[in-house]
Parts: sequence; structure tokens; C-alpha cells
Amino acid sequence: MQNSEGMAGIRPERFSSDSKFKFKCHKDVDCFTKCCRSIKITLTPYDVIRLKNRLELSSEEFLAIYTEPHLLEKTDLPMITLKMMDDDVESCPFVRDDGCIVYPDRPTTCRYYPLGVASLVHKEGADDEGFYFFVNELHCLGFEEEKGWRVREWRKDQGVDIHDEINTLWADLVLRKRSFPSNIKLIEQAKKMFFMVSYNIDKFREFVFESSFFDRYDIDRKTIQKIETNEIDLLEFGLKWLRNILFKEGAFQLKPDAAKKRTIHDK
Ligand code: SF4
Ligand code: SF4
Repeated sequence: MQNSEGMAGIRPERFSSDSKFKFKCHKDVDCFTKCCRSIKITLTPYDVIRLKNRLELSSEEFLAIYTEPHLLEKTDLPMITLKMMDDDVESCPFVRDDGCIVYPDRPTTCRYYPLGVASLVHKEGADDEGFYFFVNELHCLGFEEEKGWRVREWRKDQGVDIHDEINTLWADLVLRKRSFPSNIKLIEQAKKMFFMVSYNIDKFREFVFESSFFDRYDIDRKTIQKIETNEIDLLEFGLKWLRNILFKEGAFQLKPDAAKKRTIHDK
């Protein structure tokens, strides 16, 4: 259940969406739950929303209890991973003898397994040739089963296609930042905004609805109603706003008396 950053002793074999593999995981395999320990699970914005809602926590509480901060590979953007337990085998906090207690809302990385992805920053419709690989871990007996899959069937079966679709705008932001020359850095305030929108959706809601946000930006009534009641719409709105403040793109209009420009990139 790992992406390329967290593997040890694995022979990667590059796959495309059409590639075939055999795999089945079920409760009768001797290795059941052994994969849910000592792993690095990078969380995406939609992963956090699903998990914090399942656990009935605010996003702030979820971040404090279950995550660790890092910097996203090849960028200076903040990211988070699931914090493993402080036990002998560094278990995932959600694994029990009879399986995963958050299974319907498990993170993207867990859904992909036994496939790994070259990066969690995956864009739907992109050229996927060589993007996936087989996480051929020796302890995993699921590979000995006969059930066959194509990569695209597996993604759909595991619901990872929905996760990737909702995370598309986020992936786009990260890819753009990654393509920046390395001497162009974001100032701390921009990183904080990226973190808040990406992972702390409840705080972002507060920021939008309990600050002067609507005094500064010209947002239509229908959009306000949508983002007030739907977290996925709020996330999408936030990511579009980030694109506007980070890259000066998109349709966010400052109201005339609030049109004070601020530069957020430092050299
Ligand atoms: S078959 Fe693989 S994925 Fe399933 S429990 Fe065993 S190690 Fe984990
Ligand atoms: S979230 Fe669930 S599936 Fe993923 S590592 Fe933890 S227990 Fe295993």
C-alpha cells in the first residue's frame, strides 16, 4: 500500500492502464493485514475529507491526531502522511485483526495497492504509459490468486478513479509548482494557504465565510450556496482560488476597492 516513495525490496515493473495482473486480497490469506504497517501513505485532499468525516472529526482534529507534515517531493509544497502507531511494527492506526476500520474511506494509496503510482499527482486522461507499477512485495500472497485485472478495471473497482478525479485540480497545482525553476520559492503565507485549502477544509470554510473574503472577491450567489453546503465544491473552489493567487490564472475577480495586488512569489 505504498507509493514509490515508501518502498523497500520491491522490483518495479512499469504498467499502463491496459496492463494485466493477477491479484486478490481476502480475509483468508495468511498475510491478512500484514501490509498495513510501517508504510508511508501520502494523503491527498480528498483522502482527508473522506477520513475525517468517517471518524467524525474536524479536519483540524484529524490533522493533529493522525498526520505528519512533510514537504512534497521535488517541490517546497507542504504535504502530509498518515502517522503510524508507536508500536513494535509501526501499525497503521486503522488496522485491526479483522481488517481496516475505515475501509470504505481508505486513502488513495491503499486503494491502488498492489499497484503503485509514480506519483500521487495523477491527472485523469494523461498519458499513463509507465505511470503504474506492480508493488511486488514478498509477504503479499494476493499475487498467488487467479483473479485477473487490467489496471483500468482495478482503479474503477477500488474507487480510485473517483479520488483521482476529485484531486485533479490539486494535482494540476502541484505539477505546475514542480515545473517551476527551483530558485522560485513560495513565501510562507502562500504555503500556509496551500496547506489550509488542501488539507484543512473546515478552516478554509471559516476563512471564506467568517473573514472579509466576500468583501474582497466578487463571488456569485449560486457559488456561495454551493460551497456552503458541499465540501467537494468548497475544495474545488479553494483550489481554483489557489491557482489564482499562486499563478494569477482563473476567473477570480477582486472587487474594485479591494484590487490591491500582492506578490506571493519570492526569488
Ligand atoms: S494479500 Fe497483500 S494486500 Fe491482502 S492482506 Fe495480504 S499483504 Fe495485504
Ligand atoms: S488505512 Fe486501512 S487499508 Fe490503509 S494501511 Fe491503514 S488499515 Fe490498511
